[in-house]
Amino acid sequence: MNLTTYLRAGYPGLAVITSEEARAEADIAAACASVERRLHAWSSTEGLVDTTDGRVTPCPDPLDALQLLDGMFAAENPRHVVLLRDLQLHLDQSDPMLVRRLKDVLRVAKSNGHAIILLGCRLKLPPELLHEFTEVDFSLPDPTRLGAVLDGILKSAKLKNVHEVVKEAALQSALGLTTTEAENAFALSVVETRGIDPKVIAREKARTLKRNGLVEVVEATTSLDDIGGLGQLKEWLQRRAGAFSASAKAYGLPAPKGLLIVGIPGTGKSLTAKATAGAFGLPLLRLDMGRVFGGIVGQSEANLRSVIQTAEAIAPCVLWIDEIEKGFSGSKSSGSTDGGTSSRVFGSFLSWMQEKDQPVFVVATANDVSKLPPEFLRKGRFDEMFFVDLPDALERAQIWDIVIKRHGRRPADFDTDVLSRACEQFTGAEIEAVFIDALHEAYVEGREPGPKDVLDAMANTVPLAQLMDGQISALRHWAKGRAREAGAPVKSTPAAPRGPRRVQSVN
Ligand code: ATP
Repeated sequence: MNLTTYLRAGYPGLAVITSEEARAEADIAAACASVERRLHAWSSTEGLVDTTDGRVTPCPDPLDALQLLDGMFAAENPRHVVLLRDLQLHLDQSDPMLVRRLKDVLRVAKSNGHAIILLGCRLKLPPELLHEFTEVDFSLPDPTRLGAVLDGILKSAKLKNVHEVVKEAALQSALGLTTTEAENAFALSVVETRGIDPKVIAREKARTLKRNGLVEVVEATTSLDDIGGLGQLKEWLQRRAGAFSASAKAYGLPAPKGLLIVGIPGTGKSLTAKATAGAFGLPLLRLDMGRVFGGIVGQSEANLRSVIQTAEAIAPCVLWIDEIEKGFSGSKSSGSTDGGTSSRVFGSFLSWMQEKDQPVFVVATANDVSKLPPEFLRKGRFDEMFFVDLPDALERAQIWDIVIKRHGRRPADFDTDVLSRACEQFTGAEIEAVFIDALHEAYVEGREPGPKDVLDAMANTVPLAQLMDGQISALRHWAKGRAREAGAPVKSTPAAPRGPRRVQSVN
C-alpha cells in the first residue's frame, strides 16, 4: 500500500524508514498534494516549517513541537500532515512525557483527520508506541526515477548523443542504489570515460553495496559445468533456468522462490549458488546474515529491510545466503539471548520468503540443520530442499576432471578413475586441496605433477568426514524423507586405514 492510500484511509501515525531523506520528502510532499493535505516538517535544528508558506516556528525541543501540534490538530480544517525528522532518536530514550504526549497528539490527529509521519533510517519505538505507527514501504528508486537522475547528469555534462541502449544498460547497472549513490556512479562514469559506461556503473554499485556491508555483488563466472556430481540438483536448476523469462511470465509461471542446500562442508554448496546465477543468467548478490545482526539495537530489522529492498530493486536476481544457520540460530532459543531480535528478524524473513512477488531467487546453504528453526523447513518457503552428501566414485572422478582442468592440466595425464577410488570420503574441496598440494610439490622440484604426486598428497590427508562421522550420519538421517538427494546416493564403505596424515582444512 502506498502513502496516499494510508493518508486517504485516515491513518494518524505513519513511519517511513529510509536513508534517502530527500527523495522520501519529495514523495511525501507529492502524496500530500494529491490528497490535499497541508504539509509541515519538523526537525530539532529547523523547528516547525509550514511548507506551504515557508513560515518557521522555532522549537528545538520535541516536547514543545508536539505541544504545537496538539493546537494545530484541534480543528478539522485544514487537514495537516506533519513530518517529524529523527523523532525516533528522542524516543529511543523512552522519555515517558514524550511518549505520552505523542499518544495524546495521535488521538487528536485521528479524531480530526490529521497525520504524523516519522522519517528516519531506522525505527525503534518503545512498546507503548509499537502499535500506533504503520510502516510505509519505501522502495529503492525504479528505472524511471533513476532515468531522471541520469538525464540530469547528462545535461550538466553536456552529453547529448548517448544511445538509448547504453542508457538502458546504465540504468540496469544502477538498480539497487539510492538516487544519491546512482548520481555519484553516473558522475564518476562521466569523469572517467567522458561518457556513460555501464561497466563503470556496475563496478561502482558493487563497491557501494560492499561498503554498505550487507550484500555484495558477486561476479557470476561459474557455470553448472564447473560442478562435478550433484546431477539431480543440476538438472533441477537447468529445468528452472528459463522460468524468469518474459515468456515464462506470459505463460503464467510463478517465479521460483529459491532453494535450500544442506550438506557436508566442502561438497560444493557455495559453488552451486554461484553456478545458479550463471545458469539463470541473473546477477548474484551474496548476503552475510551475520552482519544483518549486530550493530546498534534496532538495526537488525532495518538491515534486513535494506537487504530486501536492494534485492528487489535489482530483481530478477539470485540472493545467496551462505551458512544461513549462523544468522538465524538465535531465533531457536526464543530470543532469550538477544531480546527476541533473531526471532523477529527471522519471522520477517520467513514472511518475505512466503509472500515475495518480486523475482528474487534465494539460494540458502546450511551445514548444520539442527540450528535451523523448524518453520524454516516447512513447505512453501523454498521450492525445494536438497541434501548434498559426500561424492561417490563416479562423482569424484568428475570432480577430479574439473579440478585438474581448472588448474590448467590435462585429466588424461592423470588416471582419474584410480584417483577417484583412492579418495573415498573426500569432499570436492579436499580433492582440490590435494591437487594444489601436488602442484606445489612438483613446482618445488621444477617439473609437472603426475599421478604419484597426487596420491602422495592424498596419503597425507585425513578427510574431514572421518572426523565428523557422527555429524554426517545425523545429517543423513535428518535428510531422509525431508530433502532430495543432490547427487547419486552414496554407498559408503569404511575407508582403509592409512599411515600418519594431517587434517586438510576444507576452505
Ligand atoms: P562450506 O559449507 O564449507 O562453505 P561448500 O559445500 O559450500 O562448503 P564449496 O565452498 O562450494 O563447498 O567448495 C569449496 C571449493 O571446493 C569449490 O570452490 C570448488 O573449488 C571445490 N569443490 C567442492 N565441491 C565441488 C564439486 N562438486 N565440483 C567441483 N568442485 C568442487
